[in-house]
Amino acid sequence: MSYVFDPPAVVAVPVTGSESRFPVHRIYCVGRNYVEHAKEMGFTGREPPFFFMKPADAVLYVPEGATGEMPYPSVTADLHHEIELVVAIGKGGRDIKAADAAGHIFGYAVGLDMTRRDLQGEAKKQGRPWDVGKSFDHSAPMGPIRPAAQAGDVGNAAIALSVNGQVRQSSNVSKLIWNIAETIEHLSRLWELRPGDLIFSGTPEGVGAVKAGDLMEGSVGGVGALKVKVV
Ligand code: MN
Repeated sequence: MSYVFDPPAVVAVPVTGSESRFPVHRIYCVGRNYVEHAKEMGFTGREPPFFFMKPADAVLYVPEGATGEMPYPSVTADLHHEIELVVAIGKGGRDIKAADAAGHIFGYAVGLDMTRRDLQGEAKKQGRPWDVGKSFDHSAPMGPIRPAAQAGDVGNAAIALSVNGQVRQSSNVSKLIWNIAETIEHLSRLWELRPGDLIFSGTPEGVGAVKAGDLMEGSVGGVGALKVKVV
């Protein structure tokens, strides 16, 4: 068997404390999953969770302790940071009940759902898909995956992001509108989850713009830290 051209490399993220890497299948993202962020985007109340996707090769892997470089994307003048807890699925399934969700989780990582907010805003206004705002190249910077058993109490972890040393986002994963288990229940009704899927679980309030030269430093307690410079 041959291919008409070389197939792209498998996108894979290192696992803390392991020589083996986590091969990425799909990236699912949850929209507006913290109350105060929903408010700052002009919404209130508990709506059912909704999802969008990024391509697997949008991952920009940054080793812990290193500073990653994210190129400022094209066709935007309003690049926003969204710090998020990332859930890595190790065991697939469909119609997974929230009570069983933990058994499907391989581990967790710190990620950024980088957003071309101006293009997303235009898409919302026109009733068009969000892809141009959300699913561009390098739009998913993330750190290594920490196995769930080593991650501590993720459901009550602090989540924060500073830009150039100034805190922009600071919250707690316990403030998720739909917690991780409920998110997996909803998501696995819509798609069959596969090992290798990543779920960006939503961002707390305080999103805002970054420009070339800015340094973003994010963290989720017990999971890790992520440093990315916009270049
Ligand atoms: Mn997000």
